[in-house]
Amino acid sequence: MAYKILDTCVNCGACEAECPVSCISAGDGLYVIDESTCIDCGACASVCPVEAPQAQ
Ligand code: SF4
Ligand code: SF4
Repeated sequence: MAYKILDTCVNCGACEAECPVSCISAGDGLYVIDESTCIDCGACASVCPVEAPQAQ
């Protein structure tokens, strides 16, 4: 399981620094999660202002 950032992401960058395994990076118009590295901790979702990171 991994989290995925939906296209409702507003590109604020708040989640990137919160990820304990540094698997979030700026992508093309929204931030993206490397699903092979994500440990499903939910830290990104807890800081996101628009609930863009969702458990898959
Ligand atoms: Fe990183 Fe945790 Fe979010 Fe996965 S769920 S991207 S490990 S902060
Ligand atoms: Fe996008 Fe939410 Fe991350 Fe901000 S915190 S970059 S809105 S996913």
